[in-house]
Amino acid sequence: MQVDNLELLGRKGPPEDGQSVVEVKRHQDFWFDDGSIVLRAEDIQFRVHRGVLARKSTVFNDLFAVARPDGAEVVDGCSVVHLTDSAEDLAHVLSGLYDGIQYRQNGGSSSSWRTIRAFLRLGDKYAIDELHREAMHHLQVYASGYLNEWDNFLDADSVNRVGARKWDEWDAIDLVNTLKGLELPLIRTLALYRCCQFQTETLILGASDKNKIRVQLCQKDIVTCIIARESLQVRHLEIIDTLAASPSRCATEHTCAAGRLKAEASWRFTEGHLNYDPLAQTDKRLREKYESHRVCGSCIKHCISTYHAGRQEIWDTIDEYFEDI
Ligand SMILES: [Zn+2]
Repeated sequence: MQVDNLELLGRKGPPEDGQSVVEVKRHQDFWFDDGSIVLRAEDIQFRVHRGVLARKSTVFNDLFAVARPDGAEVVDGCSVVHLTDSAEDLAHVLSGLYDGIQYRQNGGSSSSWRTIRAFLRLGDKYAIDELHREAMHHLQVYASGYLNEWDNFLDADSVNRVGARKWDEWDAIDLVNTLKGLELPLIRTLALYRCCQFQTETLILGASDKNKIRVQLCQKDIVTCIIARESLQVRHLEIIDTLAASPSRCATEHTCAAGRLKAEASWRFTEGHLNYDPLAQTDKRLREKYESHRVCGSCIKHCISTYHAGRQEIWDTIDEYFEDI
């Protein structure tokens, strides 16, 4: 592990002419009065304990072993180590180290993508194995390989259930970009699938978070999503057509035919837009929709079975929709 992107800087006194003065702040949670080292990320300082970090990270251990040069920057008697990471990522990692791994609550699905991303990046960079393992665990939970687990996420109303389906636009795009080069193809595919549901403007131009930080898919991924969502829509319409044409034992044929048509029409389009989300309709949702249109039990059973088979086939071949162009 190289530490050449870490610096022990020793600037003292006012900045040279032409340099802007940056106001350096102390992090409100990670400034311990008995801390023995100050880490600086962006314009935030963290006063922490070198023994704790050295115990968790061989990279920090090696870094702290380097003799402090004469004139090195010191704050409250502590050497200052400048890191090239974001202050946000560093705060997530320090929270993981100091507060413990508290992220496996609720079946391991309660962590935000940003926490996991920090563990993934810095866990690897600083060789903090426990955090890197935690990130990998959550990524697997986020994107289960089983359709029934995907459906459980869809059917769960709890806001604490953060599954692949619940990624917001920023998270999904950032996830796609972050996972480039990592061997996590299913998770990246499901994140791209999520991007297919965006409005065209967001798909092409990206999304901004509350701090106005914009993330955007690369041109290749944008094209992949546009092609994939057309194919997904076509396959979805084929499944719906199969429903309409299927024979079934039906006691109230006239009522059911009209009800089935209304229910199925709602899956062709979503609020006036083309529907690129054939995995959205779980068995539970299908049943509720058919029942709201007074379709008989026999028809509902038949249609759910047919629709489910179509969804399963899409799920089983989902990677083929996103193969490299
Ligand atoms: Zn019927």
